[in-house]
Amino acid sequence: MPNARGHDAITYAIIPFTYLAAEMYWGDHTTSAIATVAMLFSGLMFGPDLDLDSKPYRRWGPLKFLWKPYQVALPHRSKLSHGPILGTIIRIAYFLIVFSLFAATVLYARHRYLDGGQTTWQGEFDVVKADLFTFWEGTDKQYFEAAFGGLCVGALAHTTADIIWSAIKRRR
Ligand SMILES: [Zn+2]
Repeated sequence: MPNARGHDAITYAIIPFTYLAAEMYWGDHTTSAIATVAMLFSGLMFGPDLDLDSKPYRRWGPLKFLWKPYQVALPHRSKLSHGPILGTIIRIAYFLIVFSLFAATVLYARHRYLDGGQTTWQGEFDVVKADLFTFWEGTDKQYFEAAFGGLCVGALAHTTADIIWSAIKRRR
């Protein structure tokens, strides 16, 4: 596979194409910007290589431990992480679950031990879930489509580069 710098360069290089394609498809600047940012996020931090100790993984900084179970569960370069669409869906689902659990735990600890309030972990988890649901309800679905499309394009660029790279290496 190309090294992280190669993947980063490809991600930056396809920014204009992603934006133009989104403009052609949706004809709306905000939607195109969301798609482009999602592609960038996918290429730099949310890509297939989260399945190993990689630059995208390390870019999560103090939160990178959230991806540890993902790495343990998925063999590197399996379809579940490197399939452009399947991998993206699995990462989104995984992240939503792990993020909700983590956020509920942080909120619980804060309300319980810092504010000394009455709260339960389940209660905090329900609040996080309700917030996510409200966000989903209150946001134009086209924006989610664009975000999902952008994430898939970032992953597709990554996996394509991996495949081309190994084909070239095999020939040499
Ligand atoms: Zn890869």
